[in-house]
Amino acid sequence: MTEKLLTENFDRNFAEIKENIEKAAKKAWKNPNDIILLAATKTVDIELINYAIDSGIEYIGENRVQEFLSKKDGYAPCHRHFIGHLQTNKVKDIVPFVELIHSVDSVHLAKEISKVSLKLNKVTDILLEVNIGDEESKSGFKTEELEENLREIAKFEGIRVRGLMAIPPICETPQQNIKYFSKMQKLFIDIAGKKIDNSSMDFLSMGMSGDYACAIENGANIVRIGTALFGKRDYTKK
Ligand SMILES: *Cc1c(COP(=O)(O)O)cnc(C)c1O
Repeated sequence: MTEKLLTENFDRNFAEIKENIEKAAKKAWKNPNDIILLAATKTVDIELINYAIDSGIEYIGENRVQEFLSKKDGYAPCHRHFIGHLQTNKVKDIVPFVELIHSVDSVHLAKEISKVSLKLNKVTDILLEVNIGDEESKSGFKTEELEENLREIAKFEGIRVRGLMAIPPICETPQQNIKYFSKMQKLFIDIAGKKIDNSSMDFLSMGMSGDYACAIENGANIVRIGTALFGKRDYTKK
């Protein structure tokens, strides 16, 4: 696709998504400005990402370490998040350059982020990933083990737990997702109510291209959107 078509498509997609976010936020009695639209930028060329940032995208998220490292010096100013599975041996490559890690799925990983952050004299914000569909193939804490693990992680210095993240099972319709989103919302509210030291439930990161409106209606305040913004991913490039 030509550059011009890509940016025109982006403009149209972005306008539509902003409108949908606004509608969903209003349904949930929330201020649309409190919903963070995070552009999931995997496989997207840096030129298009920077066009998006120029157009008003403030948050971007990468999910592969290698790809993030190859792009990181090229991004226009923006808030950078890491949203993918992170191995402990890659923590030192990511921590210096991101504001929030969405996908902390073990005590072991949290401990490593703590260690690296302390060395850098920084406090890294993290979200705990919840395996809300209890799927074998997915990472994340089981709902029934979340509180216990959060209590342990919250003790580590150099990190601050800021909320929860989930990738629910693939559903046929957004309606089927409601079940998982509302389970997450309940879990989020329950955990927030426990007021665990060194943790605050500020962010609930859930909802992607096909179901972000539904996620917002069920309490999400960060939605991670790739395809609906940038079009279908081309994995054959590069
Ligand atoms: C790619 C990705 C998204 C965005 O997915 P789309 O369906 O393209 O919107 C969201 N979250 C994570 C963790 C991702 O890797």
